Amino acid sequence: MALEDYKKKRNFSKTPEPSGDTAEVEKRKTQKSSLFFCVQKHLASHLHYDLRLEWNGVLLSWAVPKGPSIDPADKRLAMHVEDHPVEYGSFEGVIPEGYGAGIVMLWDRGSWTPETDDVEGSLKKGDLKFTLDGFKLKGSWVLVRTGGYGRSSSGGRGAGDGRSWLLIKHRDDWAGPIDITTFAPLSVKTPDADLADILAADNPEVWSGNPPAKGGDTGTMFRRIIERALEIREENATASPAATSSAAREDSAKPAATRSTKPAAAKSVSAKSVSAKSAAPKSAAAKSAAKPRKKR
Ligand code: MN
Repeated sequence: MALEDYKKKRNFSKTPEPSGDTAEVEKRKTQKSSLFFCVQKHLASHLHYDLRLEWNGVLLSWAVPKGPSIDPADKRLAMHVEDHPVEYGSFEGVIPEGYGAGIVMLWDRGSWTPETDDVEGSLKKGDLKFTLDGFKLKGSWVLVRTGGYGRSSSGGRGAGDGRSWLLIKHRDDWAGPIDITTFAPLSVKTPDADLADILAADNPEVWSGNPPAKGGDTGTMFRRIIERALEIREENATASPAATSSAAREDSAKPAATRSTKPAAAKSVSAKSVSAKSAAPKSAAAKSAAKPRKKR
């Protein structure tokens, strides 16, 4: 039942996101392994970071617009959103359309430990203390629900409806005056990948000039990332196969007769001129092909 909202919001014939297997929820509930946590950087209608804590076989989820901060002076707004399936914790990719359309990067992952024996009670009370053990985020944290904080009389979405929490780092060895999202911006799943690399590995032309956000900072970010993803695609397509493309390298090792013609075809066509779907190599080889990086 916990994933009802998650499923209602999505059309799984149109999104690569995991569909949320109910049997998986039950399996996970009874597993005695450590509790999973992750943070996904999600560029959609607005950039935000989704903090997810495994509990009762699902991922409790908060959308943090500014992202987590390891500076205890920062109180980061965290909007409680629908539970996600545990499988979502390894998801990284492009949501072409519909709910959450945009790019998802797995920004951090690891395990979490509640600093209380009564997690349900703490959630109900709106004060959950916990420890994170991720690649980027570690140490003690708290999520506190904000009572009347910033309550809007119009009853609008946001403050006042019980969905607004604050994510705050406790003072410990893992705290410091570092902007962690800027300091460590890349994926923990795909080596050296940023949002543009993730889009390039999928399909930089998926929105063909009509990205999920057009105006403001988010629109600017989308334009920049799409442009960069097209560059990466082009660099990969024109790169010398001997020096850079593992796909081509593997290919040339085969007898000529069985050689696939794909790499050659990909090389001869500019990324911009290829139709959207056919230009999307999803293979690991295509992803791992070396990317000469330009200064940004
Ligand atoms: Mn999100």
